[in-house]
Amino acid sequence: MQIKRLRLTGFKSFVDPADLRIEPGLTGVVGPNGCGKSNLLEALRWVMGETSAKSMRGAGMEDVIFAGTATRPARDFAEVSILADRQGEDDELEVVRRIERGAGSAYRINGRDVRAKDVALVFADSATGAHSPALVSQGRIGAIIAAKPGERRAMLEEAAGIAGLHVRRRDAEQK
Ligand code: ATP
Ligand code: MG
Repeated sequence: MQIKRLRLTGFKSFVDPADLRIEPGLTGVVGPNGCGKSNLLEALRWVMGETSAKSMRGAGMEDVIFAGTATRPARDFAEVSILADRQGEDDELEVVRRIERGAGSAYRINGRDVRAKDVALVFADSATGAHSPALVSQGRIGAIIAAKPGERRAMLEEAAGIAGLHVRRRDAEQK
């Protein structure tokens, strides 16, 4: 999967709509302290289905919504979307996640309302997703080195693209 575009609005410090092109290859994010580099990485993980508010450095998931500053009022929703090409598929993939205060998150794939689970599967099958080793956040290298064998196996499975099989098995076992 090649993510080509990331769009955010009202997400953390990105109060105004931002539209970023992501070129093939390795992408680095640079800038002064506090400019929003980590927030960008978090936006990518969030739209791919991240469920842990803590890993987004918040107490609750609504903390991703722009909280306001001395000069700008808070927003009541945040929306992130990504546009991607998928190997072997002609059409582009657009995934949108939106959260509204008091209403939780909603997801869309190519304009259709879907469940969080459907989004997780799309990314797991393409060997990417909220916990993809392709997203190297601050402290991530140290975490890989310090990981317990089981945790490291999960990272390798995610990289190998078989994490989706586990999601389906858990799903099947619940039925
Ligand atoms: P560093 O170089 O220190 O790692 P960074 O570029 O990674 O910095 P971020 O951590 O992405 O910076 O951004 C931090 C900024 O985002 C802070 O100014 C913080 O106030 C702001 N921020 C985070 N969440 C929100 C929110 N919900 N509403 C408004 N601003 C937010
Ligand atoms: Mg940072």
